[in-house]
Amino acid sequence: MRIGVLAVQGAFAEHIALLRQLEVETLPVRLPTELKGLDGLVIPGGESTSISRLMLDYNLVGEIRNLARSGLPILGTCAGMILLAKEILDHDVELLGLMDITVRRNAFGRQKDSFETELTIPVLGGKSFPGVFIRAPVIEQANSKVEILARLNSSTIVAAKQGKLLASAFHPELANDLRFHQYFLNVVASE
Ligand code: GLN
Repeated sequence: MRIGVLAVQGAFAEHIALLRQLEVETLPVRLPTELKGLDGLVIPGGESTSISRLMLDYNLVGEIRNLARSGLPILGTCAGMILLAKEILDHDVELLGLMDITVRRNAFGRQKDSFETELTIPVLGGKSFPGVFIRAPVIEQANSKVEILARLNSSTIVAAKQGKLLASAFHPELANDLRFHQYFLNVVASE
């Protein structure tokens, strides 16, 4: 199994380190040619406006869209989740537009810009998962094709899955818990 991590901006090094802990071949991706032969792709957190601009500059957008439509599993975390969305409420960012979700950037306002909280994520088993939220977005709407994986305070949607696309508003790569990435690898392996 070979996983690429989009490495144009943001928390890509943490994803690469965590996937290597899981003993998966993991490569940074900056060029369209580096997307070839991948079994899965991670789009990290960072600044969605910058990642979006750099993806356009590096000619990655069309290729990632094509690969996703032909079944490439993708995990998008935080800014990566924003980029997977079909719609964004409050900003003009060129999105990949792959998941039927509507997102809101920086949804937690100033004083709660960053926080950590235990999340219940049933697909990861009974034990709670440490949710690290850093100027995090949320999913405001999702249609029936989208499976909700986690909510905050039993309302706000913070993780979802659609086919082989997986999105989290939080940063599983900073959680010191490998289960979210392992879950993604299970999705990749389930082809
Ligand atoms: N606030 C960032 C954005 O809107 C996302 C933050 C993150 O990825 N940690 O793109």
